[in-house]
Amino acid sequence: MAGDEVIRIMCPNLGCQRVLAVPSSARGKLVRCRGCGSNIRIPVPRAEAPAAQSAPNSQQQRPAA
Ligand SMILES: [Zn+2]
Repeated sequence: MAGDEVIRIMCPNLGCQRVLAVPSSARGKLVRCRGCGSNIRIPVPRAEAPAAQSAPNSQQQRPAA
């Protein structure tokens, strides 16, 4: 979890689908595909994701047992 981690993401462009390798520091940012030139957003892992939901309720779903 420390240092530079390489993330591999496939270009969403169906006519391209080039696999891009980007550093973990690019998470949440836009990178340009070298294949087709479209901007691709690098997904952010949940642990580091900005709080999109302001609800204080925990997201854990337990089975009603
Ligand atoms: Zn592309």
